[in-house]
Amino acid sequence: MLDKSKIYEMEISGLGHSGEGIGKIDDFTVFVENAIPGDVIRTKITVLKKNYGVGELLEILKPSANRVTPKCGIAGICGGCQIMHMDYEQQLRTKRNTVVEALKRIGKIDAVVHPTLGMDNPYEYRNKAQFPVGILDGKSILGFYKKGSHEIVDTEYCHIQAPINTKIVQVIKKYIDDFDVAVYDEKEHSGLIRHVVTKVGFATGEVMVIMVTNGKEFPYKDKLIEMLKENVEGLKSVVQNINMKNTNVIFGDTTFTLYGEDQIVDYIGDLKFNISARSFYQVNPAQTKVLYEKALEYADLTGNERVFDIYCGIGTISLFLAKKAKEVHGIEIIDAAIEDARENARINHLTNTKFYVGKAEDVVPKLYKSGLVADVVVVDPPRKGCEESVLETIVNMAPKRVVYVSCNPATLARDLAYLDEKGYKTVEVQPVDMFSHSSHVECCVSLERIKE
Ligand code: SAH
Repeated sequence: MLDKSKIYEMEISGLGHSGEGIGKIDDFTVFVENAIPGDVIRTKITVLKKNYGVGELLEILKPSANRVTPKCGIAGICGGCQIMHMDYEQQLRTKRNTVVEALKRIGKIDAVVHPTLGMDNPYEYRNKAQFPVGILDGKSILGFYKKGSHEIVDTEYCHIQAPINTKIVQVIKKYIDDFDVAVYDEKEHSGLIRHVVTKVGFATGEVMVIMVTNGKEFPYKDKLIEMLKENVEGLKSVVQNINMKNTNVIFGDTTFTLYGEDQIVDYIGDLKFNISARSFYQVNPAQTKVLYEKALEYADLTGNERVFDIYCGIGTISLFLAKKAKEVHGIEIIDAAIEDARENARINHLTNTKFYVGKAEDVVPKLYKSGLVADVVVVDPPRKGCEESVLETIVNMAPKRVVYVSCNPATLARDLAYLDEKGYKTVEVQPVDMFSHSSHVECCVSLERIKE
C-alpha cells in the first residue's frame, strides 16, 4: 500500500479522460494532474482509494519529449485548458488514440480511424466567453474559475478566446472600479454584476456583450455603453440578463437589449446564423465547418434522400445537409433551439426542412410509426450517447447509411457495437479537434448497412 507521507518517483505512461497523467507506483495506478506521458516526476499522494491514488505533481525530474511551455501563464491553475503543456501534434495523436482504444475496448470495433483533423492555428478559436466577476483587494477581477473550485483567477488575456475579449474585460473592469458598482458575492448572494458573457461572429466581426445581473437596476448603464462603443470594435449589441436566483446557473429568465441589435450574425461556410443572447451556437466555428463537412461527405447525398438529423440543436447539421438532400427532419429536445433552427432555415431560404421538439426516444419512433422513413440518418447526441430505443428505431427504418457525430468516445463505442450487431458496419472514423488544449475529442463516423 502507498504511503501518503512519502514522496515517490514515477513515470507517466497514459492520459486520463480529463487530461491527467496516469502511471504506476508498485503496480498501483496513480493519477497526476498537469503530467503527461513520458514525464518522470516526483509526486506526493493526496488521495488514496482502494483501486487508485491521486498524486500532486511536485517536480518534473525528466520532461516528456512532448512537453512544451504553455503559452498561457495560468494554464496549470485555470480549469479551461488541461493539456496546453503538450505539443499540439501530440495532442492530436493522443485524441486519436483515445478513440482507437475506446472502440477496441468498449465496442470491440476495429475500424479505420483517421489522424485527428487539427487547427492550423489552435489559438483564439472560441467565439463565446463566460467570465465570472469578483473583487480582490478592492479591485474588480474577471476571469475563469480555478480547477474544481469557484475561486476566480483574474485573466488578462485568454489564448483560446477571441482577442477582442481582452478589450471588453478591460472596459468592464474600469466601469466597475470607476463607478463603484457592486459585484456579485456568491456566498452572501448580494451585489449586482454576476457574469459577463461575450459572443463574437468570426466571419462578420460582430460582437455582443451580455451583462448578467442580480437585479434589474443598472447604475451608469449609459456610461458603460459609451465606454464599450468607444473601445470595442464591431460592437453590435449590449444585453442585460437578470438572474436573481441563488444558483450556479449563469443565465436567468429575463433578457433585454440595452444597446443595438437583439442578435449578431455569423456564417459557417455560406450558411448564415442569427445568434441571440440565449441561443446555442458552436463555440469553434472553424472546426465546426470541418466536422460538418465530414458529416456531409459521409452522408453521401444525391439529392433524393430523406434525412433525419437526430439531436439537431439549432439545426446546424440539418442546414448543411438540406442543400444536398430532398428533405431533412431535425429532432431536438430544447424548444428554443428548435425555434432558432426554424429561423436559421428561413434566413437561409432552405424550405425542405422540418423540425420537431421532443425527446428523440419519443419523437423518432412516432415519426417512424406514422410512416416517415429516413434514407440516411445523422445523430449527434449529448455525452451519454443515444437511447437504445432511438438506435432500435434507426435499425428498423433500415437507412442505407448512418452518420454518427460524437463528443464522447466511450458512449460512441457502445452505440457502434449495438449497431454493428444489427447490421451496420462502422466504415471509418474521423476525429476532429474542436477544443484544442482540452482533453475533449469529437468524432464523425460513417456506418453502412450490410445487405442480407
Ligand atoms: N447537432 C447540434 C447539437 C448537438 S449537441 C449542433 O450541431 O449544434 C446535442 C443536442 O442534443 C443538444 O442540442 C441537446 O439539447 C439535445 N438533446 C439532449 N437530449 C436529447 C433527447 N433525449 N432528445 C433529443 N435531443 C436531445
